[in-house]
Amino acid sequence: MAKAYSNKINKIRSFALGLIFFGVIIMYGGIFFRDNPIIMLIFISLGMLSILFSMVVYFWIGMLSTKAVVVTCPNCDKPTKVLGRVDMCMHCREPLTLDPDLDGKEFNEDYNKKKKQTSGSTES
Ligand SMILES: [Zn+2]
Repeated sequence: MAKAYSNKINKIRSFALGLIFFGVIIMYGGIFFRDNPIIMLIFISLGMLSILFSMVVYFWIGMLSTKAVVVTCPNCDKPTKVLGRVDMCMHCREPLTLDPDLDGKEFNEDYNKKKKQTSGSTES
């Protein structure tokens, strides 16, 4: 059975990887416009921006990873990172939750959105 959701950290990581590929393809596209240096420059700067943005995303993943809780997946016994109230196991996509109230309930990514973080919460 295919599950629609995947682990958030993995998802963001593949997004960043996609951005790098996108940037490289755009920069390659600039070669086709080498007769027009302005268009070529636009393509190359767009590609560079995309790659730079992916670096920011990678940095962001690093920040998120430090906040994520490492748990051992009950399904595959491998350590995985849980981000937010509900997340997927990185290895077997088992839905995991940190909230005991949601334990046993059907997985729904909306649980992360419903409880908006209030400002001024205590720093851990
Ligand atoms: Zn697992």
